[in-house]
Amino acid sequence: MTDFGGALKKLSEYPDYTLAIIGVPFDEKSSFLRGAADGPAAIRRVSTGKCYNPDTELGIDLAEETVLVDLGDVDTSGDMLKTFAEVEKKVAEVVRKKAIPIILGGDHSITYPAVRAVASHHQNLDLLHLDAHPDMYEDLYGDRLSHACPMARILEEGLVKNLIQVGIRSMTPEQKALAKNYGVRTIEAREFPEKLSLEFRNPLYISLDLDVFDPAFAPGVSHHEPGGLTSRQVLDLIHNLKATIVGFDIVELNPMRDVSDMTAALAFKLLKEIAGKAIRP
Ligand code: MN
Ligand code: MN
Repeated sequence: MTDFGGALKKLSEYPDYTLAIIGVPFDEKSSFLRGAADGPAAIRRVSTGKCYNPDTELGIDLAEETVLVDLGDVDTSGDMLKTFAEVEKKVAEVVRKKAIPIILGGDHSITYPAVRAVASHHQNLDLLHLDAHPDMYEDLYGDRLSHACPMARILEEGLVKNLIQVGIRSMTPEQKALAKNYGVRTIEAREFPEKLSLEFRNPLYISLDLDVFDPAFAPGVSHHEPGGLTSRQVLDLIHNLKATIVGFDIVELNPMRDVSDMTAALAFKLLKEIAGKAIRP
């Protein structure tokens, strides 16, 4: 366990935290390769204060200006339905305290229970989804809870008011039709503008699948989908957001595919920058 660039506080000393990390070492819903279960440990390992400071690019000192704690990992030892229930419970615990949950995956299936928990607290919730894939399959190989399906479940249950998907480059005609039906706004990677400034009127949850990046920037993911975004494009998008962020996840880090921990380091950088935006919009 590390110190997140020196920003981490002890939960025992700061029970009234503002930001809480929750690890979900779970990859049973991965359709191709396992390994994302080791994601939370890899992010914790690289994020040492010996290598990084707690300051964001926009000048926010996460050690001084907020209280960040690590609640550890969700218990994933039971079957997957129990794991999903544990994710929902843990995230709900954080939002009830009016704090901001930071969920580290794990495969993308865990976003569904996480958003359920946040949506039960924020009746009007918007969702920004960064991903190479729309994750809106009705089912994948008969599995409706696959990591390829969380957005379909979220839309079906009406958990969010507005969904914007960014960086997509693998739409099927069925998913295109579904997006149209539900009024989902899609900004595909091929049409990513020079400057993207997104505004959300409702409280915002961000779900960031690391395969939104081009594999050149983030090789440590299970599905390499070329033609993706650069680190700079996504960081700028986050910095330019006009929104009140009430929770976020960073998912699909697969350390077995990573090179020199560079994807884990990118995940930590994103954690810092999104956290900074959350405490000072
Ligand atoms: Mn993806
Ligand atoms: Mn995904």
